[in-house]
Amino acid sequence: MTDYQAIVIGSGAGGLSAALTLSRRGSSVLLLEAMPSFGGYLNPFRRKPYTFNTGLHYLGELGKGEPFWSLLDTLGISDKVSFVELDPDGFDRYIFPDYEFRFCKGKERFRERLMRDFPKEERGIKRFFNVFDKIMKAMDASMSQEGGLFSMLGFLLKHPSMIKYSRIPYQKLLDEVTSDRRLQAVLNAHCGTYGLPPARASVIIPLSVWSHYLAGAYYPKGGSGAFRDAFLNALKSNGAEMKSRSRVVRIEKRGNEFQIETEAGEKYTARVVISDVDPVLTLGKLVDPQMVPSKVQNKVKRLRPSVGAFWAFIGTDLDLPSLGITDANIHHYDDFDLNKIYDTLNASTLPEGVPGYFLTSPSMKDPNGGHAPQNHHTVEIFTFIDYSHFERWANSPSMKRGEEYERFKEQMGQRLVKAAERYIPGLSEHMKHIEYATPLSNEYWVNAVRGGCYGPEETPDQVGPGRFSSFTAGIEGLFLVGAGTLGGGIMACVASGVLAGGRAASLLGLKL
Ligand SMILES: Cc1cc2nc3c(=O)[nH]c(=O)nc-3n(C[C@H](O)[C@H](O)[C@H](O)COP(=O)(O)OP(=O)(O)OC[C@H]3O[C@@H](n4cnc5c(N)ncnc54)[C@H](O)[C@@H]3O)c2cc1C
Repeated sequence: MTDYQAIVIGSGAGGLSAALTLSRRGSSVLLLEAMPSFGGYLNPFRRKPYTFNTGLHYLGELGKGEPFWSLLDTLGISDKVSFVELDPDGFDRYIFPDYEFRFCKGKERFRERLMRDFPKEERGIKRFFNVFDKIMKAMDASMSQEGGLFSMLGFLLKHPSMIKYSRIPYQKLLDEVTSDRRLQAVLNAHCGTYGLPPARASVIIPLSVWSHYLAGAYYPKGGSGAFRDAFLNALKSNGAEMKSRSRVVRIEKRGNEFQIETEAGEKYTARVVISDVDPVLTLGKLVDPQMVPSKVQNKVKRLRPSVGAFWAFIGTDLDLPSLGITDANIHHYDDFDLNKIYDTLNASTLPEGVPGYFLTSPSMKDPNGGHAPQNHHTVEIFTFIDYSHFERWANSPSMKRGEEYERFKEQMGQRLVKAAERYIPGLSEHMKHIEYATPLSNEYWVNAVRGGCYGPEETPDQVGPGRFSSFTAGIEGLFLVGAGTLGGGIMACVASGVLAGGRAASLLGLKL
C-alpha cells in the first residue's frame, strides 16, 4: 500500500496546479515544499509595513473565457481570485533614448500605433503580423496535438511556418520584416519578460508573449500572495496534504512504486510523482541516475539556464502619481540595439550605469492590496546580470555571505536606484525600506539553476521538444511541470500543471 497516490515536489505555479488537478480528480496528494512558505516565484515577502512580489508583475488572457481564465476555471478557482485590469491604453511603457512606445490591449490598436509611428514601414508591419497570425494559429493547434511521429509530421505539413520559424532566432524574423532599428527595438522591447536578446530568443517566445498581453494585462487583487492562496485554499478544501520545510533529496522507484526522501530523512511512497523542480535538478540530482535513459541524461547535460537578475525592492513615502508613475510597467533601454544592451549587461565587466531595466509599482496597480500603507508605495526594479559575478559566494550560507558580498550588492543597488531616479526623482532620499536580491537569492529561494529567472533559457534549441514539453522523461509515473516544460511565465506553468496533472490522474485510473 502506498502512502499517497501522488506526490508533488515543489509548490511553484506548476506544482500547485498539478496538485490541484490531481486532488480535484479524487487522488490523495502530498505536496512537499523545500522552503518555509509555498508558491516559489509566487511567494511574496513582507517587510513591515510593505509587501513585495517576486515573480508576478502582470498576467494576460484573463478575461472571462480566455485561455488563462479557462485554466483557472478548470482548476475551480476562477471565482476565488479577483484581478485589476491595468490601463488597456498602455500597460507597458517602452522607453528608449528619445522615443516612447506604449504597448496596449488589442491587436488592431497595437498595429495602428505601429503604423502611426512608422508609416514608412507599412509593408514590414503587415508581414510581421502575417507571421504572427500563422505562428499563433499553429501554437493553438499544437495544444491539442497528441500522438507520435506521424501525427507530428501531419501537424508540421499543415503549419509550414512552424518548420521555418520554430528553429530560428527572433532577430532573423525582425530582419526579414524591417531594417528600421527603432521599429525592431519596439517589436522586441518586451524581451525582459523572457530575458533574451533578439539574436538569441526563439521566434516562438516573443510572439507568444505578445499574444498573451494583447488580450490585456491584469494584476491579482492582493498581489501574488492572493493568487497563490487561491490554490492553497482549494487544495486544503480538497484534502491535499501540504508540507513546507520538506526539501526532497531523492526519488527512487521500486517496482511500480516511488519512494521519496526528504533532507530530514522522512520517507513517503506514491504511485505517481510530479516534480516542479527544474528538470536539470530533478533528473540530474534527485532521481537515481540508473533510472534516467541516456538520451534524457544527455539532454539534461546540454540544457542552459536562463539569465539571473538583480532586484531592488523599495518602500517609499513619495507621492508616485504626482511624479507621473502609473500602473504601467516601465521597460527602460539606453539604446535601440537591444542585442548590445544584453551583451553589456551580461559582460564580465559590469557597466558604469544600468543600460536596461524594468521598473514597476505594485501599489499603483492595486492601491488597496496591502502592498504599502496609505500615502506610501512599493517600487520593484530589476535588471539582468550574469550568475558568474556572484559565483564566488555560491557556497556561503544565505544571510552570511560576508561584507564583500554586501558591499557589492550595495554598489549594484545604488546604481539601479540612481538610474531609476530618472522616473522617480528623489527616490534615494525617500526610501523607507530597501532590499536587494541577486541570482543567489533565486537559487536559495526557489532552487533556480544558477539563479535563472525563467527555467532553461528559451533559445530555438530549448523550446518545444528542446525542453520537457511532453512532461515526461522516460520514467513511467514521473512527470515534470513548471518553467522547464512549456516555458517560463505563470500561465505556461499553470498549463503544465493542469496537463501533466491530468495525465498523471489518467495513469492512476481516475475518472474525469
Ligand atoms: C523577476 C521575475 C519577474 C517575473 N514576472 C512575471 C510576470 O509578471 N508574469 C508572469 O507570467 N511570469 C513572470 N515571471 C515568471 C514566473 O514567475 C515563473 O516562470 C513561474 O512562477 C515559475 O513557476 P514554476 O512552476 O516553474 O515554479 P517555481 O516558482 O520555480 O517554484 C519551484 C518551487 O519548487 C521548490 N523546490 C525546489 N527544489 C525542491 C526540492 N528539492 N524539494 C522540495 N521543493 C523544492 C522551490 O522552493 C519552489 O517553491 C517572472 C519571473 C521573475 C524571476
